[in-house]
Amino acid sequence: MRIAVDMDSVLAETTEAMIVWMKEKHNEVFKKEDITDWDWVQHRYDLSTPETVRMFAEIWGDRWESVPPTESNIEKKVERLAELSELTVVSSASPDQANGKLKWLYKYGLKQVPLLIVPYGKTKEKLPYHIFIDDRDDTIEKVVEAGKIGFLYDQPWNQKCKVGMRVKSLSSVISFLEGKGV
Ligand SMILES: [Mg+2]
Repeated sequence: MRIAVDMDSVLAETTEAMIVWMKEKHNEVFKKEDITDWDWVQHRYDLSTPETVRMFAEIWGDRWESVPPTESNIEKKVERLAELSELTVVSSASPDQANGKLKWLYKYGLKQVPLLIVPYGKTKEKLPYHIFIDDRDDTIEKVVEAGKIGFLYDQPWNQKCKVGMRVKSLSSVISFLEGKGV
């Protein structure tokens, strides 16, 4: 069983670094809970796609150390997922984020898990994985449409999504793979 686990907002709490970046660059303050849909930050602050790409490039280029994990014991949870499946971290990102993302994975002890970068903004349903764990509603909707298993990682911006299996922790996916239900 091949699993694609997303990185931003599933393993790494990237929003924390976005909040700091926005305060420094635009003197704007927002909270994670304010983000009510996928494009909220881009629309609210009128960022073009190249500006958004640059923001993520700066976060993962210069500030990757300020990005915390989404959950406690992330190393143990990812390790367990990798025991139960063939696990790949699949991140939709510009290539200049790759280095910082690899360093982050190393920092949190996830150096045995491969990282696959797919083009920024693209959904992932056509990739050869059976199960996807992602916070993006669009991705999980397309994954389910494609007849695959989608775990929607609970975040404020995906609350309207009604498809896939909503999980608040990677522990629920582990439990599913162990046959104990979600
Ligand atoms: Mg994500």
